[in-house]
Amino acid sequence: MKPTIETLNLFKLASGDEFFLQLYQFIGKKRNKKVYIQSNLHGSEIVGNAVISQLIDFLSTLKKSELEGEIWLLPVCNPLGTNQRNHFFSSGRFNSYDGKDWNRIFWDYEKICHNLDEFVQENLKFDSLTIQENFLQQQKIAFSKQLEKINHPSGAPLFEQYRYQLQSLSMDANYVIDIHSSSNQCIDYLFCFPGEQENSAKYFQIDYGILMDTYDGDAFDEAFMKPWLALEKKFEKVGRKINVDRESWTLELGSGMKMNPQSVTIGVKGIINYLVKKGVLKLEHYSLISNEITLVSRQNIRNYYAPTGGMIQNRLSLKTRVQAGDKLYEILSFNKRGYLPEVIQVCAEKDGFVFDVSTNYSVNQGDYVLALCSINLEHLC
Ligand SMILES: [Zn+2]
Repeated sequence: MKPTIETLNLFKLASGDEFFLQLYQFIGKKRNKKVYIQSNLHGSEIVGNAVISQLIDFLSTLKKSELEGEIWLLPVCNPLGTNQRNHFFSSGRFNSYDGKDWNRIFWDYEKICHNLDEFVQENLKFDSLTIQENFLQQQKIAFSKQLEKINHPSGAPLFEQYRYQLQSLSMDANYVIDIHSSSNQCIDYLFCFPGEQENSAKYFQIDYGILMDTYDGDAFDEAFMKPWLALEKKFEKVGRKINVDRESWTLELGSGMKMNPQSVTIGVKGIINYLVKKGVLKLEHYSLISNEITLVSRQNIRNYYAPTGGMIQNRLSLKTRVQAGDKLYEILSFNKRGYLPEVIQVCAEKDGFVFDVSTNYSVNQGDYVLALCSINLEHLC
């Protein structure tokens, strides 16, 4: 099966140059379900591009009959972010023009959908599938106002035009997968919404997940999922359980500015396994794998910031287990007051393991140094 390749115009620059997105679509026999996968929304988080490239290779080997639904893949989904540099380093987390985080800009229907009670009453008589179709139509009508605004003579700022592109590609999907990594160095993990979705998390073959019991606001995964979760809740309130066939995932595959082969393999295998579980891929002789995943609350992740300026030394490596009071790292701190340099020790506040570490070993006071996940895991020695 060959993908349909579509090139979409994104922006035109002052110089006359233009940015494009390129979408790869695999269409199965039926078009009953849609999967949308994108990568590199944050500019330094390039790992997902390798994952998508390998998924394209894999899907190209399949017969049309092995795909039930359609899979849309959008690698390098943020060309402005991907190309951004500070000296040798890719940054690309924030739009350098307006300072906004590229993953906190998305249009969230849940925030403006004020007639949900009315919608529930009008739709009680329908089955789950029709309810979802009606809700999606309502969401699309509200979203189309965004395009009207963009097309007005007064226009819209760049971030609104950009999010319109990505969300118009993904809004009607059943399953959305947004592939990121740490900006620094990190283990592989995923973000999971509480509820039904927790049962699916174990099919990604990733060992850790953060349960999204609080929201950062306007992230891509949230903007997709929050309206559906609100819908589900409203129906539950009137005693009706509807089966919303929508899931939204952010995969965090390892470190920034890298495509660690192990993280790439985990991403590719996990996504294929998940799509088999969801009935999108019908692969003969495939045995589904599910593994234990430890889901922790966001509150379990504690960032450590440098108490003073200096150079980081003797820092514990990723996954090292610690107990409260154990030394995490030292700061070699210089001064301009006539004293010798000193070494300052920083210790763990709680038991846990090293979850993420900064790439830069030189810190100003208040710079990020590492993150601890405060759970005790026996196998993480
Ligand atoms: Zn990211």
